[in-house]
Amino acid sequence: MIDSYGRTINYMRISVTDRCDLRCRYCMPAEGIEKVSMSKILTYEEILRICRVAAEIGISRFKITGGEPLVRKGCTSLVREMKQIPGVEQVTLTTNGQQLAETVDELAEAGIDGLNISMDSLREDRYSLITGGGKLDKTLRAIDKSIDAGIRTKVNCLLQKRVNEDEILDFAAFAFEKGIDVRFIEIMPVGYGNPDAGLSNDEVLAVLKERYPQLEQDETVHGNGPAVYYKLPGEDGTIGLISAMNHSFCNRCNRIRLTSQGLIKPCLCYEDGVDLRRALAEDDDALKAALEEAVRNKPAGHSFHDRASVEHRAMSQIGG
Ligand code: SAM
Ligand code: SF4
Repeated sequence: MIDSYGRTINYMRISVTDRCDLRCRYCMPAEGIEKVSMSKILTYEEILRICRVAAEIGISRFKITGGEPLVRKGCTSLVREMKQIPGVEQVTLTTNGQQLAETVDELAEAGIDGLNISMDSLREDRYSLITGGGKLDKTLRAIDKSIDAGIRTKVNCLLQKRVNEDEILDFAAFAFEKGIDVRFIEIMPVGYGNPDAGLSNDEVLAVLKERYPQLEQDETVHGNGPAVYYKLPGEDGTIGLISAMNHSFCNRCNRIRLTSQGLIKPCLCYEDGVDLRRALAEDDDALKAALEEAVRNKPAGHSFHDRASVEHRAMSQIGG
């Protein structure tokens, strides 16, 4: 479907849970987060119905996210069923990788088209500190298993000043060693995120260019997202930069988001959305109209600098 600004909207991120087995501070507080009761979370049947109707209006690519999607039982079956919906071209999933090694073969068999694995440090102690107790070896093992299973694998790393900013080159070396895309994400002021604590991707690029003067922009398409990729001659792995704060990519935005409670968010930055609950109680025409309304309501662009209207929900509730 084409939105009011002429953009093709063909991609939906679906958060299947607000729960997580980790506690990255920029995303979820260590304690005090209110768990949403399961009765308020969309069932898989409801999610599949939304996907079917979304596919009818041209949304053909879906990303399953969370919270941590793999803490919700049956996530693999959801992937399998989504893949069978007419019009669905691609289903991918984003995960912290902690429980992925055990599920990766099943996901491959279900037809997953790609995995994004979040990992902010390659050092065990630091990884544990950033994630509130995560085990680095589990995520590393999951990355290897995902690559071995032939799944398109990307690693997402969020850099914070005085926390992991000294790992830019280690992550670049990791991308080249594994032959995968490693993407650096700028921290956004959504939920608990404080951009002042993060690094701008201009700073990241400067570090990379100093070490690798031959680094050049890679114009080939790597996926659906707003990352700009850089490559080195002779290497398969690339480095992606996702610059929500410092370089607006809104004119290329192709997505809407579904929260685990059934809110369609036209833009990550703002709180507003279209609640699908009422439409779910009606027929598919009502659901289609609600989805179309969300696409129509997509703003021309975001401004994270206008704090008053910025999204206050935790990123774990939205799905990134
Ligand atoms: N648990 C899964 C994971 O970590 O990949 C999926 C959900 S998580 C919310 C998705 C992505 O959002 C992660 O890569 C995480 O680093 C990113 N994220 C969380 N809070 C953020 C923030 N304030 N700004 C930018 N990215 C953020
Ligand atoms: Fe959990 Fe992902 Fe948020 Fe970390 S970024 S707390 S892994 S939902």
